[in-house]
Amino acid sequence: MPFNVPEVPEKRVVIVGAGFAGFTLVNKLRGSGYQVVLVDRNNYHQFQPLFYQVAMSGLEPSSICFPLRKNFRSDPRLFVRVAEVHSVDPLQKQIHSDIGILNYDILVIASGASTNYYGNRSFALHSIPLKSVSEALYLRNRILEDFERAVLVREESTQDLLMDVVIVGGGPTGVELAGSLAEMKRHIVPKDYPDLNAANMDVHLIQNTGRLLNGMSENSSRVALEYLKEMGVHVHLNAMVERIESDSVILNSGRVIPTRKVIWAAGVKAAPLPGLPEKAYNRDNRIIVDPYCRVAGTTDIFCIGDVSYFPSPKYPNGLPGLAPVAMQQARYLAKLLMRQMSNRKISPFNYLDKGQMATIGRSKAVLDFGRFHLSGFFAWMVWLFIHIYYLVGVRNRIVVFINWVWSYLFYDQALRLNIKPYSPEGHPNSSKKSND
Ligand SMILES: Cc1cc2nc3c(=O)[nH]c(=O)nc-3n(C[C@H](O)[C@H](O)[C@H](O)COP(=O)(O)OP(=O)(O)OC[C@H]3O[C@@H](n4cnc5c(N)ncnc54)[C@H](O)[C@@H]3O)c2cc1C
Repeated sequence: MPFNVPEVPEKRVVIVGAGFAGFTLVNKLRGSGYQVVLVDRNNYHQFQPLFYQVAMSGLEPSSICFPLRKNFRSDPRLFVRVAEVHSVDPLQKQIHSDIGILNYDILVIASGASTNYYGNRSFALHSIPLKSVSEALYLRNRILEDFERAVLVREESTQDLLMDVVIVGGGPTGVELAGSLAEMKRHIVPKDYPDLNAANMDVHLIQNTGRLLNGMSENSSRVALEYLKEMGVHVHLNAMVERIESDSVILNSGRVIPTRKVIWAAGVKAAPLPGLPEKAYNRDNRIIVDPYCRVAGTTDIFCIGDVSYFPSPKYPNGLPGLAPVAMQQARYLAKLLMRQMSNRKISPFNYLDKGQMATIGRSKAVLDFGRFHLSGFFAWMVWLFIHIYYLVGVRNRIVVFINWVWSYLFYDQALRLNIKPYSPEGHPNSSKKSND
Protein backbone atom coordinates (compact mmCIF):
# COMPACT_ATOMS: atom_id res chain seq x y z
CA MET A 1 0.00 0.00 0.00
CA PRO A 2 1.54 3.32 -1.00
CA PHE A 3 1.67 6.60 0.92
CA ASN A 4 0.21 8.31 -2.15
CA VAL A 5 1.96 11.64 -1.60
CA PRO A 6 2.65 13.61 -4.82
CA GLU A 7 6.24 14.07 -5.96
CA VAL A 8 6.90 17.82 -6.16
CA PRO A 9 10.01 19.99 -6.67
CA GLU A 10 9.84 21.23 -3.05
CA LYS A 11 11.83 19.41 -0.39
CA ARG A 12 9.82 16.90 1.62
CA VAL A 13 9.91 16.98 5.41
CA VAL A 14 8.53 13.78 6.95
CA ILE A 15 7.53 14.04 10.61
CA VAL A 16 6.88 10.85 12.58
CA GLY A 17 4.62 11.52 15.56
CA ALA A 18 1.83 14.05 16.08
CA GLY A 19 2.39 14.58 19.80
CA PHE A 20 3.40 17.88 21.37
CA ALA A 21 6.60 17.98 19.30
CA GLY A 22 5.33 16.84 15.88
CA PHE A 23 2.04 18.73 16.10
CA THR A 24 3.75 22.01 17.03
CA LEU A 25 6.35 21.58 14.31
CA VAL A 26 3.77 21.03 11.57
CA ASN A 27 1.86 24.11 12.67
CA LYS A 28 5.04 26.16 12.50
CA LEU A 29 5.95 24.83 9.04
CA ARG A 30 2.69 25.98 7.45
CA GLY A 31 3.43 28.00 4.34
CA SER A 32 7.17 27.39 4.73
CA GLY A 33 7.75 26.17 1.18
CA TYR A 34 8.39 22.58 2.27
CA GLN A 35 6.09 19.70 1.47
CA VAL A 36 5.25 18.31 4.90
CA VAL A 37 4.03 14.76 5.60
CA LEU A 38 2.88 14.06 9.14
CA VAL A 39 2.68 10.36 10.02
CA ASP A 40 1.09 9.03 13.19
CA ARG A 41 -0.49 5.73 14.19
CA ASN A 42 -3.59 7.68 15.31
CA ASN A 43 -5.62 10.24 13.39
CA TYR A 44 -5.59 12.56 16.39
CA HIS A 45 -3.29 14.48 18.69
CA GLN A 46 -3.52 13.57 22.40
CA PHE A 47 -3.12 15.94 25.33
CA GLN A 48 -1.44 13.52 27.72
CA PRO A 49 -1.39 15.68 30.88
CA LEU A 50 -5.19 15.30 31.10
CA PHE A 51 -5.41 11.53 30.53
CA TYR A 52 -5.97 11.06 34.22
CA GLN A 53 -9.13 13.20 34.04
CA VAL A 54 -10.54 10.92 31.34
CA ALA A 55 -9.71 7.93 33.53
CA MET A 56 -11.46 9.57 36.48
CA SER A 57 -14.65 10.32 34.46
CA GLY A 58 -13.95 14.06 34.61
CA LEU A 59 -13.49 14.68 30.87
CA GLU A 60 -14.54 12.94 27.70
CA PRO A 61 -11.74 11.71 25.38
CA SER A 62 -12.82 14.04 22.60
CA SER A 63 -12.11 17.07 24.82
CA ILE A 64 -8.43 16.25 25.07
CA CYS A 65 -7.83 14.83 21.60
CA PHE A 66 -7.83 16.72 18.35
CA PRO A 67 -8.33 15.31 14.81
CA LEU A 68 -5.19 15.92 12.75
CA ARG A 69 -6.97 16.50 9.48
CA LYS A 70 -9.15 19.22 10.97
CA ASN A 71 -6.11 21.25 11.91
CA PHE A 72 -4.26 20.91 8.64
CA ARG A 73 -6.96 20.87 5.98
CA SER A 74 -6.31 24.39 4.71
CA ASP A 75 -2.73 23.73 3.58
CA PRO A 76 -2.30 21.97 0.19
CA ARG A 77 1.39 21.22 0.87
CA LEU A 78 0.57 19.32 4.03
CA PHE A 79 -0.30 15.62 4.10
CA VAL A 80 -1.49 13.52 7.00
CA ARG A 81 -1.01 9.76 6.89
CA VAL A 82 -2.18 7.33 9.55
CA ALA A 83 0.43 4.61 9.71
CA GLU A 84 2.66 2.67 12.08
CA VAL A 85 6.24 3.49 11.20
CA HIS A 86 8.52 0.47 11.69
CA SER A 87 11.98 1.74 10.81
CA VAL A 88 14.13 4.27 9.04
CA ASP A 89 16.64 3.62 6.27
CA PRO A 90 19.05 6.57 6.36
CA LEU A 91 21.02 5.38 3.30
CA GLN A 92 17.95 5.25 1.05
CA LYS A 93 16.37 8.22 2.89
CA GLN A 94 13.17 6.29 3.50
CA ILE A 95 10.82 5.34 6.29
CA HIS A 96 9.17 1.92 6.33
CA SER A 97 5.65 1.53 7.63
CA ASP A 98 2.57 -0.67 7.54
CA ILE A 99 1.25 1.34 4.57
CA GLY A 100 4.49 1.21 2.62
CA ILE A 101 7.69 3.15 2.10
CA LEU A 102 8.05 6.92 1.93
CA ASN A 103 11.08 8.91 0.74
CA TYR A 104 12.16 11.98 2.64
CA ASP A 105 14.57 14.85 2.17
CA ILE A 106 14.43 15.71 5.84
CA LEU A 107 13.16 13.36 8.54
CA VAL A 108 11.99 14.44 11.98
CA ILE A 109 11.54 11.70 14.57
CA ALA A 110 9.06 12.80 17.24
CA SER A 111 7.75 9.41 18.30
CA GLY A 112 7.69 10.14 22.03
CA ALA A 113 7.79 7.48 24.71
CA SER A 114 5.98 4.35 25.83
CA THR A 115 5.28 2.77 29.22
CA ASN A 116 8.33 1.41 30.99
CA TYR A 117 7.83 -1.78 33.01
CA TYR A 118 11.58 -2.15 33.58
CA GLY A 119 11.51 -5.64 32.07
CA ASN A 120 9.18 -7.07 34.73
CA ARG A 121 6.47 -9.21 33.15
CA SER A 122 4.24 -9.16 36.21
CA PHE A 123 4.12 -5.36 36.13
CA ALA A 124 3.00 -5.40 32.49
CA LEU A 125 0.53 -8.24 33.01
CA HIS A 126 -1.30 -7.03 36.10
CA SER A 127 -1.25 -3.24 35.98
CA ILE A 128 -3.03 -0.62 33.92
CA PRO A 129 -0.87 1.92 32.07
CA LEU A 130 -1.85 5.52 31.27
CA LYS A 131 -0.01 6.42 28.09
CA SER A 132 -2.86 6.70 25.63
CA VAL A 133 -6.45 7.83 25.61
CA SER A 134 -7.58 4.21 25.04
CA GLU A 135 -5.78 3.18 28.22
CA ALA A 136 -7.41 6.06 30.08
CA LEU A 137 -10.82 4.85 28.88
CA TYR A 138 -9.99 1.29 29.86
CA LEU A 139 -9.10 2.48 33.36
CA ARG A 140 -12.34 4.46 33.60
CA ASN A 141 -14.34 1.36 32.66
CA ARG A 142 -12.43 -0.87 35.08
CA ILE A 143 -13.09 1.51 37.99
CA LEU A 144 -16.81 1.67 37.19
CA GLU A 145 -17.11 -2.08 36.54
CA ASP A 146 -15.42 -2.92 39.82
CA PHE A 147 -17.80 -0.67 41.75
CA GLU A 148 -20.72 -2.45 40.09
CA ARG A 149 -19.23 -5.83 41.00
CA ALA A 150 -18.56 -4.71 44.56
CA VAL A 151 -22.27 -3.89 44.96
CA LEU A 152 -23.08 -7.52 44.22
CA VAL A 153 -20.82 -9.16 46.80
CA ARG A 154 -21.41 -9.56 50.51
CA GLU A 155 -17.93 -10.32 51.89
CA GLU A 156 -16.15 -7.16 52.91
CA SER A 157 -12.75 -8.53 51.89
CA THR A 158 -13.93 -9.08 48.30
CA GLN A 159 -15.53 -5.64 48.24
CA ASP A 160 -12.22 -4.17 49.38
CA LEU A 161 -10.35 -6.02 46.65
CA LEU A 162 -12.66 -4.46 44.08
CA MET A 163 -12.68 -0.94 45.49
CA ASP A 164 -9.07 -0.47 46.61
CA VAL A 165 -6.61 1.02 44.15
CA VAL A 166 -2.81 0.95 44.16
CA ILE A 167 -0.95 3.54 42.13
CA VAL A 168 2.70 2.87 41.41
CA GLY A 169 4.80 6.00 40.87
CA GLY A 170 4.68 9.25 42.83
CA GLY A 171 5.39 11.64 39.96
CA PRO A 172 2.80 14.18 38.74
CA THR A 173 0.59 11.49 37.15
CA GLY A 174 0.56 9.30 40.28
CA VAL A 175 -0.10 12.25 42.56
CA GLU A 176 -2.90 13.57 40.34
CA LEU A 177 -4.52 10.15 40.12
CA ALA A 178 -4.29 9.60 43.88
CA GLY A 179 -5.90 12.99 44.57
CA SER A 180 -8.72 12.35 42.09
CA LEU A 181 -9.45 8.89 43.47
CA ALA A 182 -9.54 10.30 47.01
CA GLU A 183 -12.09 12.87 45.82
CA MET A 184 -14.10 10.18 44.08
CA LYS A 185 -14.18 8.22 47.33
CA ARG A 186 -15.39 11.27 49.23
CA HIS A 187 -17.87 12.88 46.86
CA ILE A 188 -19.00 10.30 44.30
CA VAL A 189 -19.01 6.82 45.84
CA PRO A 190 -21.37 7.68 48.75
CA LYS A 191 -23.87 9.25 46.31
CA ASP A 192 -23.69 6.73 43.43
CA TYR A 193 -23.20 3.59 45.51
CA PRO A 194 -25.08 4.10 48.78
CA ASP A 195 -25.01 0.33 49.33
CA LEU A 196 -21.20 0.37 49.52
CA ASN A 197 -19.21 1.63 52.47
CA ALA A 198 -17.02 4.31 50.84
CA ALA A 199 -14.76 4.38 53.89
CA ASN A 200 -13.57 0.90 52.88
CA MET A 201 -12.08 2.20 49.65
CA ASP A 202 -8.32 2.58 50.13
CA VAL A 203 -6.07 4.48 47.76
CA HIS A 204 -2.37 3.57 48.01
CA LEU A 205 0.43 5.52 46.33
CA ILE A 206 3.79 3.77 46.10
CA GLN A 207 6.94 5.79 45.53
CA ASN A 208 10.42 4.28 45.42
CA THR A 209 12.22 7.39 46.70
CA GLY A 210 11.94 9.42 49.89
CA ARG A 211 9.67 12.08 48.41
CA LEU A 212 6.87 12.59 45.91
CA LEU A 213 7.28 14.71 42.75
CA ASN A 214 11.00 14.07 42.41
CA GLY A 215 11.35 16.54 39.54
CA MET A 216 9.95 19.39 41.63
CA SER A 217 11.23 21.32 44.67
CA GLU A 218 11.38 19.81 48.19
CA ASN A 219 8.79 22.36 49.17
CA SER A 220 6.27 21.17 46.56
CA SER A 221 6.97 17.52 47.47
CA ARG A 222 6.24 18.22 51.11
CA VAL A 223 3.03 20.14 50.38
CA ALA A 224 1.79 17.45 47.97
CA LEU A 225 2.41 14.79 50.62
CA GLU A 226 0.50 16.81 53.22
CA TYR A 227 -2.43 17.30 50.84
CA LEU A 228 -2.63 13.60 49.99
CA LYS A 229 -2.44 12.54 53.62
CA GLU A 230 -5.21 15.01 54.49
CA MET A 231 -7.29 13.43 51.75
CA GLY A 232 -6.77 9.96 53.21
CA VAL A 233 -4.35 8.55 50.64
CA HIS A 234 -1.91 5.94 52.00
CA VAL A 235 1.45 7.17 50.74
CA HIS A 236 4.31 4.61 50.87
CA LEU A 237 7.67 6.37 50.43
CA ASN A 238 10.92 4.46 49.84
CA ALA A 239 8.84 1.46 48.83
CA MET A 240 9.66 -0.68 45.81
CA VAL A 241 7.15 -2.89 44.09
CA GLU A 242 8.67 -6.33 43.74
CA ARG A 243 5.83 -8.18 42.07
CA ILE A 244 2.25 -7.60 41.03
CA GLU A 245 -0.24 -10.45 41.01
CA SER A 246 -3.85 -10.55 39.87
CA ASP A 247 -5.09 -9.72 43.36
CA SER A 248 -2.16 -8.10 45.18
CA VAL A 249 0.93 -5.93 45.08
CA ILE A 250 4.03 -7.22 46.85
CA LEU A 251 6.50 -4.64 48.14
CA ASN A 252 10.20 -5.25 48.76
CA SER A 253 9.54 -4.94 52.48
CA GLY A 254 7.42 -8.07 52.20
CA ARG A 255 4.19 -6.16 52.68
CA VAL A 256 1.30 -7.40 50.57
CA ILE A 257 -1.44 -4.96 49.54
CA PRO A 258 -4.53 -6.80 48.32
CA THR A 259 -6.16 -5.18 45.26
CA ARG A 260 -7.42 -6.04 41.82
CA LYS A 261 -6.56 -2.61 40.40
CA VAL A 262 -3.01 -1.39 40.01
CA ILE A 263 -2.28 1.73 38.00
CA TRP A 264 1.21 1.93 36.53
CA ALA A 265 2.51 5.52 36.60
CA ALA A 266 6.12 4.65 37.32
CA GLY A 267 7.87 5.72 34.20
CA VAL A 268 8.24 5.82 30.46
CA LYS A 269 10.94 4.84 28.03
CA ALA A 270 11.79 6.29 24.65
CA ALA A 271 9.98 4.89 21.61
CA PRO A 272 12.69 5.34 18.96
CA LEU A 273 12.60 4.15 15.36
CA PRO A 274 15.15 1.43 14.59
CA GLY A 275 17.54 1.70 11.64
CA LEU A 276 19.73 4.64 12.62
CA PRO A 277 23.49 4.15 13.07
CA GLU A 278 24.14 2.31 16.36
CA LYS A 279 25.93 5.29 17.89
CA ALA A 280 22.75 7.36 17.53
CA TYR A 281 21.07 5.57 20.47
CA ASN A 282 22.09 6.06 24.10
CA ARG A 283 21.88 3.30 26.73
CA ASP A 284 18.24 4.18 27.46
CA ASN A 285 17.48 3.85 23.75
CA ARG A 286 16.87 7.57 23.38
CA ILE A 287 18.14 9.13 20.17
CA ILE A 288 21.23 11.28 20.73
CA VAL A 289 21.03 14.71 19.15
CA ASP A 290 23.53 17.52 18.73
CA PRO A 291 22.85 21.08 19.98
CA TYR A 292 20.77 21.67 16.82
CA CYS A 293 18.44 18.73 17.51
CA ARG A 294 20.13 16.83 14.66
CA VAL A 295 20.65 13.08 15.11
CA ALA A 296 24.28 12.28 15.86
CA GLY A 297 26.13 11.14 12.74
CA THR A 298 23.47 12.25 10.25
CA THR A 299 22.85 15.45 8.27
CA ASP A 300 19.18 15.26 7.39
CA ILE A 301 17.54 13.53 10.37
CA PHE A 302 16.33 15.46 13.40
CA CYS A 303 14.81 14.22 16.61
CA ILE A 304 12.72 16.18 19.13
CA GLY A 305 10.57 15.58 22.20
CA ASP A 306 10.62 12.68 24.67
CA VAL A 307 12.45 10.33 22.31
CA SER A 308 15.46 12.65 21.96
CA TYR A 309 18.49 12.69 24.23
CA PHE A 310 19.68 16.28 24.52
CA PRO A 311 22.21 16.62 27.35
CA SER A 312 23.21 20.04 28.62
CA PRO A 313 25.25 21.31 31.59
CA LYS A 314 22.02 21.76 33.62
CA TYR A 315 20.56 18.45 32.40
CA PRO A 316 23.48 16.00 32.05
CA ASN A 317 21.01 13.10 31.69
CA GLY A 318 19.14 14.85 28.91
CA LEU A 319 16.27 17.30 28.92
CA PRO A 320 13.25 16.11 30.93
CA GLY A 321 10.31 14.40 29.23
CA LEU A 322 7.93 17.34 29.40
CA ALA A 323 5.51 18.96 27.00
CA PRO A 324 7.29 22.38 27.08
CA VAL A 325 10.59 20.73 26.06
CA ALA A 326 8.90 19.05 23.09
CA MET A 327 7.13 22.25 22.02
CA GLN A 328 10.20 24.48 22.39
CA GLN A 329 12.31 22.03 20.38
CA ALA A 330 9.62 21.97 17.68
CA ARG A 331 9.50 25.77 17.43
CA TYR A 332 13.29 25.88 17.27
CA LEU A 333 13.45 23.20 14.57
CA ALA A 334 10.87 25.01 12.45
CA LYS A 335 13.08 28.10 12.59
CA LEU A 336 16.17 26.05 11.75
CA LEU A 337 14.50 24.41 8.73
CA MET A 338 13.29 27.74 7.41
CA ARG A 339 16.72 29.31 7.81
CA GLN A 340 18.31 26.25 6.19
CA MET A 341 16.24 27.01 3.06
CA SER A 342 17.92 30.38 2.69
CA ASN A 343 21.34 29.22 3.97
CA ARG A 344 21.08 31.30 7.12
CA LYS A 345 22.70 30.17 10.37
CA ILE A 346 21.01 29.59 13.71
CA SER A 347 22.42 29.31 17.22
CA PRO A 348 22.05 26.03 19.16
CA PHE A 349 18.81 25.12 20.91
CA ASN A 350 18.43 26.40 24.45
CA TYR A 351 15.67 25.07 26.73
CA LEU A 352 13.93 27.73 28.76
CA ASP A 353 12.57 26.15 31.95
CA LYS A 354 9.24 27.82 32.66
CA GLY A 355 8.63 25.87 35.85
CA GLN A 356 6.59 22.82 36.78
CA MET A 357 3.28 22.16 38.44
CA ALA A 358 0.99 19.39 39.61
CA THR A 359 -2.56 19.37 40.88
CA ILE A 360 -3.62 17.21 43.79
CA GLY A 361 -7.32 17.92 43.83
CA ARG A 362 -9.96 20.55 44.20
CA SER A 363 -8.26 23.89 44.99
CA LYS A 364 -4.99 22.06 45.64
CA ALA A 365 -1.93 22.33 43.44
CA VAL A 366 1.79 22.99 43.71
CA LEU A 367 3.83 25.15 41.38
CA ASP A 368 7.58 25.78 41.07
CA PHE A 369 8.94 28.68 39.12
CA GLY A 370 12.66 29.01 39.70
CA ARG A 371 13.06 29.70 43.40
CA PHE A 372 9.45 30.72 43.65
CA HIS A 373 6.95 28.14 45.02
CA LEU A 374 3.22 28.39 45.21
CA SER A 375 0.53 26.07 46.52
CA GLY A 376 -3.18 26.03 47.25
CA PHE A 377 -6.04 27.74 45.45
CA PHE A 378 -4.02 30.25 43.44
CA ALA A 379 -1.60 27.57 42.21
CA TRP A 380 -4.63 25.48 41.25
CA MET A 381 -6.09 28.37 39.24
CA VAL A 382 -2.77 28.78 37.42
CA TRP A 383 -2.77 25.02 36.71
CA LEU A 384 -6.32 25.21 35.28
CA PHE A 385 -5.55 28.25 33.15
CA ILE A 386 -2.33 26.82 31.69
CA HIS A 387 -3.90 23.47 30.83
CA ILE A 388 -6.84 25.13 29.10
CA TYR A 389 -4.48 27.48 27.25
CA TYR A 390 -2.37 24.63 25.84
CA LEU A 391 -5.30 22.42 24.81
CA VAL A 392 -5.70 22.24 21.04
CA GLY A 393 -8.99 23.57 19.66
CA VAL A 394 -11.40 26.24 20.83
CA ARG A 395 -14.21 23.71 21.31
CA ASN A 396 -12.00 21.59 23.55
CA ARG A 397 -11.09 24.62 25.67
CA ILE A 398 -14.73 25.60 26.14
CA VAL A 399 -15.88 22.04 26.91
CA VAL A 400 -13.09 21.48 29.43
CA PHE A 401 -13.76 24.83 31.09
CA ILE A 402 -17.48 24.07 31.44
CA ASN A 403 -16.73 20.58 32.81
CA TRP A 404 -14.36 21.98 35.40
CA VAL A 405 -16.77 24.70 36.52
CA TRP A 406 -19.52 22.06 36.82
CA SER A 407 -17.31 19.72 38.86
CA TYR A 408 -16.24 22.60 41.08
CA LEU A 409 -19.78 23.80 41.78
CA PHE A 410 -21.48 20.42 42.13
CA TYR A 411 -18.68 18.11 43.34
CA ASP A 412 -19.50 15.90 40.40
CA GLN A 413 -17.63 14.03 37.69
CA ALA A 414 -20.13 14.05 34.89
CA LEU A 415 -19.02 11.16 32.71
CA ARG A 416 -19.36 7.99 34.69
CA LEU A 417 -20.35 5.92 31.68
CA ASN A 418 -18.97 2.46 31.14
CA ILE A 419 -19.17 2.37 27.35
CA LYS A 420 -17.70 -0.92 26.24
CA PRO A 421 -15.94 -1.08 22.88
CA TYR A 422 -17.92 -3.04 20.30
CA SER A 423 -16.51 -6.38 19.35
CA PRO A 424 -18.19 -8.74 16.92
CA GLU A 425 -17.02 -11.74 18.96
CA GLY A 426 -19.49 -12.02 21.76
CA HIS A 427 -19.35 -8.65 23.46
CA PRO A 428 -22.49 -8.05 25.56
CA ASN A 429 -23.27 -4.93 23.52
CA SER A 430 -22.83 -6.72 20.26
CA SER A 431 -25.96 -6.56 18.11
CA LYS A 432 -24.61 -9.54 16.19
CA LYS A 433 -24.79 -11.64 19.34
CA SER A 434 -28.30 -10.61 20.29
CA ASN A 435 -29.51 -11.28 16.74
CA ASP A 436 -28.05 -14.76 16.68
C1 LIG B 1 -0.19 10.62 31.90
C2 LIG B 1 0.82 11.67 31.52
C3 LIG B 1 0.79 12.91 32.14
C4 LIG B 1 1.70 13.90 31.79
N1 LIG B 1 1.64 15.12 32.40
C5 LIG B 1 2.48 16.09 32.02
C6 LIG B 1 2.38 17.39 32.58
O1 LIG B 1 1.55 17.64 33.45
N2 LIG B 1 3.24 18.36 32.13
C7 LIG B 1 4.17 18.10 31.15
O2 LIG B 1 4.90 19.01 30.76
N3 LIG B 1 4.29 16.88 30.62
C8 LIG B 1 3.47 15.88 31.02
N4 LIG B 1 3.58 14.63 30.46
C9 LIG B 1 4.66 14.39 29.50
C10 LIG B 1 4.29 14.93 28.12
O3 LIG B 1 3.01 14.47 27.75
C11 LIG B 1 5.36 14.48 27.13
O4 LIG B 1 6.57 15.04 27.52
C12 LIG B 1 5.00 14.91 25.72
O5 LIG B 1 3.82 14.28 25.29
C13 LIG B 1 6.14 14.60 24.77
O6 LIG B 1 5.76 14.98 23.48
P1 LIG B 1 6.30 14.17 22.21
O7 LIG B 1 5.75 14.87 21.03
O8 LIG B 1 7.75 13.96 22.33
O9 LIG B 1 5.66 12.71 22.34
P2 LIG B 1 4.14 12.28 22.39
O10 LIG B 1 3.27 13.40 22.81
O11 LIG B 1 4.12 11.02 23.16
O12 LIG B 1 3.80 11.97 20.87
C14 LIG B 1 4.37 10.92 20.16
C15 LIG B 1 3.46 10.61 18.98
O13 LIG B 1 4.13 9.70 18.14
C16 LIG B 1 3.22 8.71 17.70
N5 LIG B 1 4.03 7.53 17.41
C17 LIG B 1 4.94 6.94 18.23
N6 LIG B 1 5.54 5.93 17.62
C18 LIG B 1 5.02 5.86 16.38
C19 LIG B 1 5.24 5.00 15.27
N7 LIG B 1 6.14 4.03 15.31
N8 LIG B 1 4.51 5.20 14.16
C20 LIG B 1 3.57 6.18 14.09
N9 LIG B 1 3.33 7.04 15.11
C21 LIG B 1 4.05 6.87 16.24
C22 LIG B 1 2.26 8.54 18.86
O14 LIG B 1 1.01 8.03 18.44
C23 LIG B 1 2.15 9.98 19.37
O15 LIG B 1 1.09 10.66 18.75
C24 LIG B 1 2.68 13.62 30.80
C25 LIG B 1 2.71 12.37 30.19
C26 LIG B 1 1.79 11.41 30.53
C27 LIG B 1 1.82 10.05 29.86
